[in-house]
Amino acid sequence: ITNSNNPLLAGLNPAQAAAVSHDGGPLLVIAGAGSGKTRVLTRRIAYLIEAKEVHPGSILAITFTNKAAAEMKERVNELVGPIAKSMWVSTFHSACVRILRNHPEALGYRKNFVIYDQDDAEKLISLISSSMGLDTKRFPTRQSASRISNAKSELLGPKELMAKATHIMERKVAEVYAQYQERLLGANAMDFDDLIYKTHELFERYPAILEQYQRRFFHLLVDEYQDTNVAQNALVMQLGERSRNVFVVGDSDQSVYGFRGADMRNILEFEKAFEDVAVIKLEQNYRSTQTILDVANSIISNNQYREAKNLWTDQGSGEKVRLFVGDDDSEESNFIASSILRERETGGRRYSDFAVFYRINSNSRSVEEAFIRRGIPYRVVGGTRFYDRREIKDTMSYLRLIQNPTDEIALRRVINVPKRGIGDQSIAKVATLAAEMGTTLVDALSKYEAAGVTGRAKSGIADFLVLMEALRGHVRDEMPPGELIEAFLDESGYRSELAANDSVDNLSRLDNLSELVSVASEHETLEAFLDASALVAQADQIQGDDVVTLMTVHTAKGLEYPVVFLTALEDGIFPHSRSLYEPKELEEERRLCYVGVTRAREILYLTRANQRSQYGESSLTIPSRFLDEIPPSLIEDVSVRLSYEERRSRYLGDSVVQSASGLSSSTLKRYGTTSNSTKVDSGPRLSVSQLKPGIPVVHGSWGEGVVTAIDGNGDNASVTIRFSSVGSKKLILSYAPLKLA
Ligand code: ATP
Ligand code: MG
Repeated sequence: ITNSNNPLLAGLNPAQAAAVSHDGGPLLVIAGAGSGKTRVLTRRIAYLIEAKEVHPGSILAITFTNKAAAEMKERVNELVGPIAKSMWVSTFHSACVRILRNHPEALGYRKNFVIYDQDDAEKLISLISSSMGLDTKRFPTRQSASRISNAKSELLGPKELMAKATHIMERKVAEVYAQYQERLLGANAMDFDDLIYKTHELFERYPAILEQYQRRFFHLLVDEYQDTNVAQNALVMQLGERSRNVFVVGDSDQSVYGFRGADMRNILEFEKAFEDVAVIKLEQNYRSTQTILDVANSIISNNQYREAKNLWTDQGSGEKVRLFVGDDDSEESNFIASSILRERETGGRRYSDFAVFYRINSNSRSVEEAFIRRGIPYRVVGGTRFYDRREIKDTMSYLRLIQNPTDEIALRRVINVPKRGIGDQSIAKVATLAAEMGTTLVDALSKYEAAGVTGRAKSGIADFLVLMEALRGHVRDEMPPGELIEAFLDESGYRSELAANDSVDNLSRLDNLSELVSVASEHETLEAFLDASALVAQADQIQGDDVVTLMTVHTAKGLEYPVVFLTALEDGIFPHSRSLYEPKELEEERRLCYVGVTRAREILYLTRANQRSQYGESSLTIPSRFLDEIPPSLIEDVSVRLSYEERRSRYLGDSVVQSASGLSSSTLKRYGTTSNSTKVDSGPRLSVSQLKPGIPVVHGSWGEGVVTAIDGNGDNASVTIRFSSVGSKKLILSYAPLKLA
């Protein structure tokens, strides 16, 4: 068959077809947003199998999310049937877990190792920091965690990090790093970065193992190549060295994970790594209108460090992009809500045609409030994830501990859940004994009497050990994971503790647990279920229901929607405040803006507010500099101009509705103040008597959090809350805009 009538190449332009039918050897498809890179990659797989008779089992394709992976598998399954199963299409992390599970001993691990998420990793780092006597003000756990993570993504081990350290702070972090790795190994656990780092190490130390995979994966394909970090890139080079069939697609203008160690130099240097690399550029865009592309091009052309390329389409210019400037964030959000309702009624669109993007998570709150008031169904992608909920984490920690008895972080989390009278002091006693004996916390636990544990804690630990042994017995009897969870809920008393108090909260927790049972039932073994749940990416929460999607611009990469709202376009938010004086980071913000704009297929709204409340304060804003980079001829200003009187009555009316519905009444309180940073006071405050550690609360700006400590009394009382958006904060109770969750 010639290329022009090959059905596998139908619906592709000549450049796309050339990429899909590429003979072999390294190929780089470097192209702008919406030019069909992902389509080309998917087709390439089909082409290899159909036209080149490549066995699906010798293909490894790396995608950015598990969702994209599932779609690709589905397609290939349609083409070739069940044999498609032997093909690996997955994220870097999932592929690495599969490889590591085959050779854990080579690296000193046992087969049943568990995967720590960010939260677990930070807990362990904080334990280490305090045992080293480090001052948490000078060495915030978050910061140490991110330095260690960066080191791993650059393939630097503790020794290398130490060698690079130039002052005491860096040396301390390197020390924490060294201990952290030891403790992880002791707990038979790996964190996310380890999955890549350790696979690379495995290949480096064992050439024979590497060769086995080089021979197996004769074809390597990688999507979103611009966001691979040094470690991931090295892994691609290792695997592709022998066959040289490395097919990568990416867009250097969309590299937005610099903070996570993604390195856009990878794509620029791919050409150097393989001397005979073929390069294909795609410039025709099939997603957006010409106006949207002109806006994207005009913004990104302000970046110094890029290869010029210009996207075009033959789909016509379409409508101008719409700019809305609200007086404050609630007006901005109301505008978004009413535009969606209007377009749905008159434009024949579904809720799922709309997406709202914001730069920082906390910006979703005001949009959510407007949607709730208007009854618009929505989904926040990457909010509190299902697997981050308390009851789910508790249960998963038990499962991990059943599978891997040495998991210290899981043990600490569940030893007194449900309550068994085992306090921090008893655990400290056991930890001391463990240190003396040079064993792990888990090993020392059974010697609780020698450790000097007394009273209720003594029988508590004994009960706990009996429970764990019973649960492990179920696993030995090959009980499937869904039933195992049920057994855990009954035998541990976890279910009866929740059922004893049938608050709405507890009922929804029980619902979540049933949901977990049904997810677990899809897996045959405990290990398979634990791996799958550890690797659920945020973008995988996107599903097909008819709801509006809310997400950060980062999460939106690779996706497309007919109507897009790009919100809070204000200097200090988008671009982010940390980037304003850093030319390199500002360029990354600009790429992020380019990603946001290029998600829109037909209509793009750009919105901002003159005043925004953040962190409990309302202040005047400065329009985003990115707005100035768009030629005015492409923009239609759709802001409603209200007179002072109209605005005043709207504010007052609006705020009454808000407080009646139990939502923020900050608009009312803010009204009449002109200072640009006024404390926002919104209604009755919580009191000390309503709070205790563990209680979930919602903050006006920071969203959901959990109380971790309360100090003092009355007007002076302060409360420490761990927010999922911004981490731990200490707040004065009488000022903080908090309500119970
Ligand atoms: P991004 O950079 O945002 O990841 P991309 O380059 O991966 O974008 P795709 O998502 O593959 O682009 O394609 C964008 C849209 O254009 C999709 O809806 C896709 O189906 C469509 N498309 C791609 N190529 C063609 C083509 N030759 N003819 C018609 N539609 C196409
Ligand atoms: Mg894509």
